[in-house]
Amino acid sequence: MCFFDLHCDTIQCLLDGSSLADANTQVSLDKARAFGRWAQVYAMFVGDNPPGRDTAYDTYRQLYACFQKQMAVYAERICQCRSAAQVRAAFEAGKYAAILSVENGSVLGGRLERLAELRRDGVRLLTLTWMGENELGSGGEAGGPLKPFGRAVLEALPSYGIIPDISHLSDEGLSDVFSHYDGPVVATHSNVRRVMGHHRNLTEKQTAEIIRRRGLIGINLCSGFLSCERSAASREDVCRHLSAFLEMGAEDTVCFGTDFDGAKTPADIRDLADIPALWEYLLKRGFSETLLRKVFFENAWAFWERNF
Ligand SMILES: [Zn+2]
Repeated sequence: MCFFDLHCDTIQCLLDGSSLADANTQVSLDKARAFGRWAQVYAMFVGDNPPGRDTAYDTYRQLYACFQKQMAVYAERICQCRSAAQVRAAFEAGKYAAILSVENGSVLGGRLERLAELRRDGVRLLTLTWMGENELGSGGEAGGPLKPFGRAVLEALPSYGIIPDISHLSDEGLSDVFSHYDGPVVATHSNVRRVMGHHRNLTEKQTAEIIRRRGLIGINLCSGFLSCERSAASREDVCRHLSAFLEMGAEDTVCFGTDFDGAKTPADIRDLADIPALWEYLLKRGFSETLLRKVFFENAWAFWERNF
């Protein structure tokens, strides 16, 4: 099987001395052995800036340096890809594909010109906010509209070839994105609010708009966003969220954004090595192989070919 994951926080673990092949991280090269092809979006998570400070950017530079060191160590097994052509070339060379995103627009520190640096570094997705408020707008926890700087960022992103990721953004902020930005948007790690009522999950209207724009939605495996009873979350909850997305017409939009190494996941989906068992489980629950191929890989891959 092939797997395309829109979100993991594994780079954070590299700061503590882990490697990309570490046995203790949820995502590791060794745990990907069952995949014929594997593309992994590695997020660089940076916190919100305290008032008047620019700490997110420093964190970004640290994470990026760690990531590049690991890319050099494991160059024979994985390489960083900036375009769909580079992803294809990696697969043809028998390697895995690593793609970079930044989780939190706070990385810009209110400076539009930093987008050029992100672009140079090969960042392809930018999560506009995290839970709280930043220079662009507010996450679902803080709540609030997009700010003028957020609108300026959205306007600039297409010229840098970076696509906005709206996971974490407040409902108000997302409405503003939809009215100020025309292009495709991605929700890298968000589930269905009707199935689990949390602001991190998407409403039917939001889902419909992402589908209309030919974007992507990655099902988040974080127990807390799969089920109200987080300690009892399981593969069955993934089944419920997938079914709901399909009912809303997301057959060509839905994929996975595991949130591995950034969230507690169900006991029956411990890490990347449990993904093939998740496929088998969903197959037994009645989803066709054609559909599962789309969800586990092809939808995200088609998006990459269209946009990068
Ligand atoms: Zn997140």
